Amino acid sequence: MSYQRLLMKKIIIAIDGHSACGKSSTAKVVAKKLGYMYIDSGAMYRATTYNFLQEGVDTKNPGQVDQALENTDIQFKIDGSGNSQVLLNGTFAEEFIRTMEVNQHVSEVSAISSVRRAMVSQQRQIGTEKGVVMDGRDIGSVVFPKAELKIFMTASLEVRAKRRQKELQEKGVFEELSDISSNLKSRDEADSTRADSPLVQAEDAIVVDTTHLTFNDQVDKIVKLAEQIIYDR
Ligand code: C5P
Repeated sequence: MSYQRLLMKKIIIAIDGHSACGKSSTAKVVAKKLGYMYIDSGAMYRATTYNFLQEGVDTKNPGQVDQALENTDIQFKIDGSGNSQVLLNGTFAEEFIRTMEVNQHVSEVSAISSVRRAMVSQQRQIGTEKGVVMDGRDIGSVVFPKAELKIFMTASLEVRAKRRQKELQEKGVFEELSDISSNLKSRDEADSTRADSPLVQAEDAIVVDTTHLTFNDQVDKIVKLAEQIIYDR
């Protein structure tokens, strides 16, 4: 570890925003550049949703939800490439949690208060040592209201849907642009209007609209903002 890195102040970087505007991929590279841990909070809600679907949980039944939460253990583990990966009950879950089925149910599961309480408490635990980049919907507003740097990312719906379609195609999955677009739209609507910790732009968040930005530009912008705080520039 470099001398400069040893001296640097550790902060929390909260990246919130609309679905598929590049939060996760950006946050991952920002974390790598700063030597920080990256936590994908959406993956926690997705893994929980996948487990609920597997167990056939009736989300309207609080007893079933609480029982299922007891049986949902979510952890993050660093893989061979240095990326943090989500584990559901001890198994790498990434390949199961990005399906259209999970996409269609995740906003419903993540609107349940007991689910949010469990996730938020674990997220705060992960952040106690700082040096974390976490992305999601309520990270700057609820999970870490005192985060030193808060980013609110967005992009036009059309651009987001096209980027998501390309991402899926690269994994060999073809989905109609209109289906992707309507899923993104309905998730944004559900996430922004739910009663418990809706997606909102924190008052002190810096907006990064990625519609016309390249990936490298959006990463550089956030790294620069972080460095200004870390090194008191
Ligand atoms: O970030 P991603 O699109 O993977 O998140 C999937 C879903 O998880 C969101 O649409 C939202 O319903 C939920 N979520 C949330 N709070 C977070 C992160 C994600 O409610 N902090």
